[in-house]
Amino acid sequence: MKERRIELAERAAEVREALAGAARRAGRAPGDITLVAVSKFHPASDVRALAGAGQADFGENYVQEAQAKREELADLGLNWHFIGGLQSNKARFVAGNFCLVHSVDSRKLAQALHKKASELGVVQDILIQVNIACEEQKSGITEENLIPLAEEVMGMGGVRLVGLMTLPPFFDDPARARPVFARLRELRDALEGRLGHRLPHLSMGMTGDFVPAVEEGATLVRIGTRIFGARPRRI
Ligand SMILES: *Cc1c(COP(=O)(O)O)cnc(C)c1O
Repeated sequence: MKERRIELAERAAEVREALAGAARRAGRAPGDITLVAVSKFHPASDVRALAGAGQADFGENYVQEAQAKREELADLGLNWHFIGGLQSNKARFVAGNFCLVHSVDSRKLAQALHKKASELGVVQDILIQVNIACEEQKSGITEENLIPLAEEVMGMGGVRLVGLMTLPPFFDDPARARPVFARLRELRDALEGRLGHRLPHLSMGMTGDFVPAVEEGATLVRIGTRIFGARPRRI
């Protein structure tokens, strides 16, 4: 069996190449897209191995799991992204510990992050997660609620809104996710005008659909399976 370190480095390099190709086809600079390696359910040893190959940004979904990895890997100075559903009563464990929270979907959560960040004397960068296809089981706010939430967030000094995130429905054909990604970009453009505030980031695209996401303007892609392989059920 190939050494895990080499396997991970090779897979990440393949993803980077595919990302760069999609960026060039769309007339974009590959350097404008950050690959967030989604390490949920994978061991800290995998993160360490991939960090050794130059990967700096990692995404986690669960507060406790993320905290354990952050502690174990504190020597590496990684950029941790919180990408999972977050209850406002756990926001205090997240504010100030992640470079970006991708999944803000309520006033209550934004308020809790703002409060904790303010106590710590930091500003927490956030994205608002939009549920574009209005799927019942998915988190994210609906399009109608985006402007009111964004306006409220703009008044909270402990958080800084830097863009939007979406998680489209699963499609067998990734091309079907493209309209969802295009819609997120339109919403971002409209919101920038409305708020008079730059929103540089669009977090969209995963293992199955990152190519259309990059073509539609993603600046952050969240990729797990394509790099780490299938997720063990839970650790
Ligand atoms: C797990 C997860 C990913 C990564 O998905 P893959 O299909 O394994 O690339 C991306 N984004 C979010 C929000 C996730 O929960």
